[in-house]
Amino acid sequence: MSNRPDLPPEIARRRTFAIISHPDAGKTTLTEKFLLFGGAIQMAGQVRAKGEARRTRSDFMQMEKDRGISVSASAMSFDYRNFRFNLVDTPGHSDFSEDTYRTLTAVDAAIMVIDGAKGVESQTQKLFEVCRLRDLPILTFCNKMDRESRDVFEIIDEIQENLAIDVTPASWPIGIGRDFVGCYDLLRDRLELMDRADRNKVAESIEINGLDDPKLAEHVPAHLLDKLREEVEMARELLPPLDAKAFLEGTMTPIWFGSAINSFGVKELMDGIGNFGPEPQPTSAEPRQIAPEEKKVSGFVFKVQANMDPKHRDRVAFVRMSSGHFERGMKLTHVRTKKPMAISNPVLFLASDRELAEEAWAGDIIGIPNHGQLRIGDTLTEGEALKVTGIPSFAPELLQGVRAGDPMKAKHLEKALFQFAEEGAAKVFKPAFGSGYVVGVVGALQFEVLASRIELEYGLPVRFDASQFTSARWVHGGKDAVEKFAAANKQHIATDHDGDTVYLTRLQWDIDRVERDYPDVTLSATKEMM
Ligand code: GDP
Repeated sequence: MSNRPDLPPEIARRRTFAIISHPDAGKTTLTEKFLLFGGAIQMAGQVRAKGEARRTRSDFMQMEKDRGISVSASAMSFDYRNFRFNLVDTPGHSDFSEDTYRTLTAVDAAIMVIDGAKGVESQTQKLFEVCRLRDLPILTFCNKMDRESRDVFEIIDEIQENLAIDVTPASWPIGIGRDFVGCYDLLRDRLELMDRADRNKVAESIEINGLDDPKLAEHVPAHLLDKLREEVEMARELLPPLDAKAFLEGTMTPIWFGSAINSFGVKELMDGIGNFGPEPQPTSAEPRQIAPEEKKVSGFVFKVQANMDPKHRDRVAFVRMSSGHFERGMKLTHVRTKKPMAISNPVLFLASDRELAEEAWAGDIIGIPNHGQLRIGDTLTEGEALKVTGIPSFAPELLQGVRAGDPMKAKHLEKALFQFAEEGAAKVFKPAFGSGYVVGVVGALQFEVLASRIELEYGLPVRFDASQFTSARWVHGGKDAVEKFAAANKQHIATDHDGDTVYLTRLQWDIDRVERDYPDVTLSATKEMM
């Protein structure tokens, strides 16, 4: 079953993936059904919260709140058949999110969920482009087939056209909307019939001996059957068959049709991830790549989350294991600081609960509670000086000033802001002159998210307002050169949360001037995560 029979079985059975979609396509519902079929929850809940508020942090956390299901934010692990699935959450809000991009560095594949009536929407397209940068294999789930949706060929065409990827049908829907009765499983020649009466029931499968099997007529109304035969014949003529290699290289996506809310098509999709993979992939690093089967343990931090429990002010670094077999209590080297770290209380986010991780294998995601030593992009190894690469850092494109509503709370505000800077949620600059802070983000919605989190997690109402600056540049160079430059340009100088020097301006002309007048320093729009 594995594409890599040489991998240790514990690694070969792991599947680490994310779900990408446009808001409302059905990501949360699908996740819930995964957990249901993974045996992690008994019954999927029905309670729903509406609106954007619930998308500000993590849909998983919100699920926890809405439905009383104990799932933990950001990553969840569950078993399905003989596989171990690690599902990593991508934040649901519709703005550009750095977090999402980094999350996608921690997975080996993505499921793209689209709404059958809407097709490829803007956020799907953006996230797809990120997956493409990493050649991630993509499985497509076309959801809400129980509602009026577009013609199947039209949907497939749109994906092929807009995303420039080959699409191969793994299943074919029978009827649409009110007439939707189920799918023909093209990979296994089976009929899957949807049960409209019980939303949590797994579809009934009926083995079928090809489309000419007379058994079909016993289950599918005649007019739908004719259409099915006709469409499948056309599909087989016009569309490529599943090519495992093209899928793994990210140039072909198999598509399943279903209805998450009716638990329909979900198992077939899960079987697809299990059967076609991919297994944990190598991690790119300097000076050499890390292979999952290496005996020595290594991993990297792709996300830091503070205040997961507001009562405890804990901070959890999410680590994707790149290689080896980790056991609780191991001492790993924190490569950036060259210091040993005993990992004594790692958390594995089993969907049923947040549990101590006694062990983890390449492909798994563990949470390491810490006091700020672990940052995004950090690598942990058993001693070798490897640095994982490819974790993107973004240039802040929008700057705003921020003040605490209560001036007495300025210190608290600083703490909150620096915390978010460490999480990678924003860039924070403290200007050398004046009071207040300048916050840099990539998408405008991030300001709102920050304001609501500062208020929620620190009890601090804050105000964002226009800043006199529009661009931020990190100043690099020898210590003396940087200090001399800073002293001569004080009005423009700020420090970030690491104490590094930043040049703030509103004019490209200023930046050009610095480059001309100060050959000893260089300005850069991003600060490498290191
Ligand atoms: P998300 O924003 O992508 O996480 O989407 P949700 O899972 O929250 O779903 C958005 C809405 O679509 C909710 O009202 C769901 O109940 C509904 N929904 C999800 N799956 C289906 C489906 O298969 N059929 C129908 N008719 N509605 C669905």
